[in-house]
Amino acid sequence: MNFAKGSLGWIEVVCGPMFSGKSEELIRRLRRAEIARQRVQIFKPVIDQRYSDNHIVSHSELRIRSESVKDASEVAAKVDLRTEVVGIDEAQFLGEPLLEAATKLANLGKRVIVAGLDTDFLGRPFEPMPRLLAMAEEITKLLAICVRCGNPAVHTQRLFASEDLIVVGAEGMYEARCRRCFDAQLALQKPAEGETVPTGDDNRRPAARPTASATVADKAAAQTAGEPGKS
Ligand code: ADP
Ligand code: ZN
Repeated sequence: MNFAKGSLGWIEVVCGPMFSGKSEELIRRLRRAEIARQRVQIFKPVIDQRYSDNHIVSHSELRIRSESVKDASEVAAKVDLRTEVVGIDEAQFLGEPLLEAATKLANLGKRVIVAGLDTDFLGRPFEPMPRLLAMAEEITKLLAICVRCGNPAVHTQRLFASEDLIVVGAEGMYEARCRRCFDAQLALQKPAEGETVPTGDDNRRPAARPTASATVADKAAAQTAGEPGKS
C-alpha cells in the first residue's frame, strides 16, 4: 500500500499455509522499507525459549534481523516512537492481544505488516488472524505448492497425530497440501501401538538444516546452532 498521505498508519496482512512464502514476502517488504531509509522494527514470538534468536529466516533461507517477544503487548511496548514500519512474523502465536497492539500502532501512524498462518492443522481459521484480516487495510493470501500433486496448496498438513492446536514441529512434521490432498484425519488418528510419533520437543535436532519441510523452530534451531555457512 503506498497511497496513504501524511502520517496515516495502516495494517497489512500476509497470510497462507506453511511454505507459501509469508516470511519471504515479509522480508521483501521490510527490506524495501529499509532501502527507503524508513525506521523499521521487526518482531517474532518466542515459540521456544531454547531457540530464541534474532532473525526471521524463510524456508529459502532469506533472513532479516528481528526482536523476539513473549506476547503482543511486548511488541507495542518495544516499538520506538520514531519507528515508521513494524513487521511481525508468526503472528498466529501472538493470540488476541495482537489485535489491540496492531490497532494501536496503526493509529499511531505506523505501517504494520503482519505475517501468519490463517488456518490451523485442521483447516480451521487460526485466531487471531481471521479477525486481523477483517481489520486490515490490505490483505495478501499466498498459496504453497501441494507436495502431493503440484496444485496450489491452501492447507498445512500435519503428518502426525495430535489434537493440540500448537505443536512446534521438527522436520517432516508438516507439509503443504491442496484442498483435494489435505487429510485432516491424519492429525486425528491415534498412532498404532509401538509406532513412535514426533513430539516437536526433545527429538528435534538442534542443528537441523532448514529444508523444504522444516518448520519455524527448525529454522531458528539451525541458526542458533551456528550452522556452517550461516551467521
Ligand atoms: P512460510 O513463511 O509461508 O512458511 P517461507 O517464506 O519460509 O514460507 O518459505 C517459502 C519458500 O519455501 C519457497 O520460496 C520455497 O523455496 C520453499 N518451499 C518448500 N516447500 C514448498 C512448497 N511445498 N511450496 C512452496 N514453496 C516451498
Ligand atoms: Zn494436491
